[in-house]
Amino acid sequence: MNLSLSYDELLKRLREKSKLTDQSKTWRLDLPKANVIWLGNKTIIRNYMDFPRILRRDPNKFLMYLAKKLAVPASLDGERAILIGRRDERTITAVIEKYVNERVKCPVCGSPDTNLTKEKRMEFLVCEACGGKSPIGEK
Ligand SMILES: [Zn+2]
Repeated sequence: MNLSLSYDELLKRLREKSKLTDQSKTWRLDLPKANVIWLGNKTIIRNYMDFPRILRRDPNKFLMYLAKKLAVPASLDGERAILIGRRDERTITAVIEKYVNERVKCPVCGSPDTNLTKEKRMEFLVCEACGGKSPIGEK
């Protein structure tokens, strides 16, 4: 009979399971789908402000990044962003994901709880979860 071992095993498994669940809960980014409509040659992202809010980034700087990657002029209009030129939702989502990978997610531990800081013209991602500091480069 080896009841005690199996009990320990069970506890261990339960602990590991809850640990995994906790991690994914903390580190999952709940980004909405970009709500995109076209008006003439303009692209309107109707829920634009949700993104900088969730990512905790400056809405203007985030928009500058989008404009650069999508190669279109862009401006803010309340909660919305207006791009000059037609871009579809998939393209916009891909750029947002790129931004998250480059400038939000900690490369050390994967946490999105990070801040940007500038030192001697170099930008760094500083992680609130693990304290890691990683240089940001164009990828
Ligand atoms: Zn980290």
